[in-house]
Amino acid sequence: MRLATPRYQRSLFSCRYRAPYLPLLRFSRTYSYGTGRPLISFSPAKSKEISFESLVPSTRTCLPPELSRRNRMADAEYEPGSEAADAVLASLKDKLQKDADAKERAQELVLNLQDIQSKIGAAKTATVNHREDDEVLLIAVSKLKPAIDILALHDNGQIHFGENYVQELWKKYPILPPTISWHFIGSLQSSAISKLARIKNLHAVHSIDNAKKAVTLNRMRPDDFPPINVYVQVNTSGEDSKSGLEPSSDELWDTVSTIRKECSKLKFKGLMTIGAIARSQAAKEGEENEDFITLVKVAQEIEERIEREDGEKAILSLSMGMSDDFENAISLGAGCIRVGSSIFGARPKKADATIL
Ligand SMILES: *Cc1c(COP(=O)(O)O)cnc(C)c1O
Repeated sequence: MRLATPRYQRSLFSCRYRAPYLPLLRFSRTYSYGTGRPLISFSPAKSKEISFESLVPSTRTCLPPELSRRNRMADAEYEPGSEAADAVLASLKDKLQKDADAKERAQELVLNLQDIQSKIGAAKTATVNHREDDEVLLIAVSKLKPAIDILALHDNGQIHFGENYVQELWKKYPILPPTISWHFIGSLQSSAISKLARIKNLHAVHSIDNAKKAVTLNRMRPDDFPPINVYVQVNTSGEDSKSGLEPSSDELWDTVSTIRKECSKLKFKGLMTIGAIARSQAAKEGEENEDFITLVKVAQEIEERIEREDGEKAILSLSMGMSDDFENAISLGAGCIRVGSSIFGARPKKADATIL
């Protein structure tokens, strides 16, 4: 059997079935063999009765292996608030209640979260550089992890979740509760900004790295949606592989000023850094992470300049610290930390990740 040629696939894309309660039909139609017939087809009336549980595995196993692997993250897109999206959420909830493996996984996740929370408490006590009101926001970084993991933690009170890929967040948020506060922490492509802006419960973007992207995000945010908190990313380690603006650069100040003065639908919160892995590991061994020290210094410069030029008092929040070094970040004044693998375990490769 041969796969459809790219040109043929394109024409299939344009005639995708758009019935909102048939997202899987849409999915299956996208990838058909050379004959052009959908791989699996359901009549609309019937599909409504087919349970979600029975649909997903059969869809997957019917796909050619290369396609199903490459397109795992391309699971269906759901309209937020649609019947189909609600049905997926209901089936996830059901699974968490009834499935023994799912329950065990949920328990493990909650224990991991509690462990991090108690470490946060201890690190706060040791804090030398208090910046804000001592609250440390824990963002559970759920990139490449399935929706059910997020739901399990949300059911246990975790509100803030971080994602790195717009496409993945775009598929996760409609099938998860709107009470989640999403944080976008990945590298920000201009072409993806319009999607981000349309996610109503997008709480914050941590990776603004120029004024233009901030202006675009602001322009595209619907007027009746809540404002988005934004952090400007600083490349404190000077590595080419890292995004972010140079510490103390004019561009950094321009970006901060543009957000503060021209972006009424964005709320300037502060600065974010990822930092070098080696420094992160040093922090794990008990040394101070130089990247965090740089970010604190840059934040102080900006606070002083805001006071000098605008006559306003500002306290910047610092988004810094991950699994290996969040305790050091807190002791240096982090306002929010982004912890992934210590809560969710090691991540799969992007090609192997699934949402459902
Ligand atoms: C993946 C990621 C994290 C979480 O990293 P862990 O080491 O798994 O805790 C935090 N911040 C950013 C920007 C990330 O991409």
